[in-house]
Amino acid sequence: MDDCLFCKIIAGEIPSQKAYEDEEILAFHDINPQAPVHVLIIPKQHIRSADALTEADDATLCRLFAAARRLAGELGLSGKGYRLITNVGADGGQSVPHLHLHLIGGRPLRWDN
Ligand code: 5GP
Ligand code: ZN
Repeated sequence: MDDCLFCKIIAGEIPSQKAYEDEEILAFHDINPQAPVHVLIIPKQHIRSADALTEADDATLCRLFAAARRLAGELGLSGKGYRLITNVGADGGQSVPHLHLHLIGGRPLRWDN
């Protein structure tokens, strides 16, 4: 999608610090990390949010979570725990309208931060 920040990151038009990449998934470090580990995991296909998912996206969603699990292991979070978040729409606090999982960890997390 032309005017989407994350599609531009996927296309390499905007640089990012990549953490994982395959044919369908890209993961990169958040520019404004909320914890010692803060990685964004996105499908390369433009999907607006979790609210726009259809059954056709089932396999993509599995790959998104598989990438999160693998990255959590590689980044040393598996035993300690971590948080996976996807914000949806304005009230959900979504600022980039391209589906993404936030993988956040490396410190104890509370519900309000
Ligand atoms: P949202 O608020 O949509 O759930 O999450 C968007 C995330 O993208 C935010 O955590 C924000 O810091 C991150 N972000 C915004 N612009 C950029 C960018 O240009 N590069 C990277 N790596 N992260 C970005
Ligand atoms: Zn996009």
